[in-house]
Amino acid sequence: MEKVKIDELVKGAGRICITGHIRPDGDCTGSCLGLRRYLLDGDESRQVDVFLEPVPAIFQMLPGYDRTGMYSGGRYDVCFVLDVSDLQRLGENAACLENSDRVICIDHHVTNTGFAAEAFVKPDAAATCELLFEMMDEERISSETAKCLYLGIVHDTGVFKHSNTTRHTMEVAGALMEKGIAHDRLINDTFYAKTYLQNQLLGRALMESILFCDGRCIVSMISGRSMEFYKASHEDLEGIVDQLRVTVGVDCAIFMTEIEFRVYKVSLRSNEKVDVSRVASYFGGGGHVRAAGCTMSGTFYDVVNNLSAQIAGQLDP
Ligand code: AMP
Ligand code: MN
Ligand code: MN
Repeated sequence: MEKVKIDELVKGAGRICITGHIRPDGDCTGSCLGLRRYLLDGDESRQVDVFLEPVPAIFQMLPGYDRTGMYSGGRYDVCFVLDVSDLQRLGENAACLENSDRVICIDHHVTNTGFAAEAFVKPDAAATCELLFEMMDEERISSETAKCLYLGIVHDTGVFKHSNTTRHTMEVAGALMEKGIAHDRLINDTFYAKTYLQNQLLGRALMESILFCDGRCIVSMISGRSMEFYKASHEDLEGIVDQLRVTVGVDCAIFMTEIEFRVYKVSLRSNEKVDVSRVASYFGGGGHVRAAGCTMSGTFYDVVNNLSAQIAGQLDP
């Protein structure tokens, strides 16, 4: 991919908007807020608006956290779409694309559909934040921007432990550390710290998990009723699928959250064999080879049966 710089992309643009996917995660939030900070540091007179669904409370330490909202109208010269693989992932904020003269997608999903006129998609980048770093002028990255980008990399690599982590990822993280960020606190407070409720939900999901495919797959689900009972939000379930994945003997882990009656947000992870981006794409979702997701409907058993047919086909081709 040719090296294009953010500063070239925004030359002459006075009104810029930035958006990311529904239920923003660390990489989505970090890339959107990091790019906002970088653009404003370059020129305070620019208008830079960030359109995101409510950002999880754990990311409150990021600059501009309180300056995000949903798109409700207005024209822009440039619209950046970050960490988004397809238009459905934008939810209601998709409308800002139609009202922008240029739409630029920066992403790292192997399933990116090429929905944007200008796209910088690098599937071997561990995070959108890693790719954004390459497109920024390193000299001009402030410690506040660095904090955002580092957080995105930490979250999409599971603190540098997933197979997407490369030497280059570590080099980018190292360069960001040199900007003077409290990396240890950031990792603890946003990745490892769990509320009592989160631990309870994790415990429950593990207790109720089921092994199938001779112990090579594991699945668990939290129902809408349980979510209501615990007054839990989807952020409270972050990390559960990763704990399922580390079960010895398991290649593929599935965690389902009932978001509406018999409609599930499905998270998929794999260790070695199953390409979960293919499984998720088959059901209209997407993601990466080792981490992907989709939305499915039916009873719990319908969904597990449909998923297991696709997964078994890859485990025993
Ligand atoms: P999650 O399980 O929500 O952490 O998502 C894992 C990966 O799959 C992330 O890179 C997401 O962007 C992607 N992903 C999750 N759900 C979907 C979906 N419905 N459509 C496309 N990609 C998804
Ligand atoms: Mn994401
Ligand atoms: Mn990402």
